[in-house]
Amino acid sequence: MPRGTSRGTDPQRSALMKRVRQKGTPLEVEVARICTSLGLRYRRNVKSLPGSPDLANKTGKWAIFVNGCFWHHHANCRLATIPTRNARFWQQKFSMNRLRDARKIRQLECLGFRVAVVWQCELAKNRRIVGRLSNLAEARIVKAT
Ligand SMILES: [Zn+2]
Repeated sequence: MPRGTSRGTDPQRSALMKRVRQKGTPLEVEVARICTSLGLRYRRNVKSLPGSPDLANKTGKWAIFVNGCFWHHHANCRLATIPTRNARFWQQKFSMNRLRDARKIRQLECLGFRVAVVWQCELAKNRRIVGRLSNLAEARIVKAT
């Protein structure tokens, strides 16, 4: 692997590229972990598809976007705040982001893909549930012994 790769990049550069490619936001990493635990097979950050979905399976024809509630301005979400400074700028930016998000979902659906959007706040809820249930389980162990 290290020598003689066909693309003609030097090993140092390709190692760097690999690191960049593998880097995801903690949210993406979390969703990837959930998918793995569900036995789903996927690729991360699929640039060959519209909108470069965070996770996708081209053969299975599905794609997942993991959206931060602030940047993608999740509707009716308390994390989707508008900064008071330069409020107009932010409002425009957020509405552009939402239009772009809707467009890439439509493009994928036109290609026959099923698309899911996972929101940051949903993961936070999930984390709380996992935390509460693991506390419950631990408490039971403590009582049992
Ligand atoms: Zn949200």
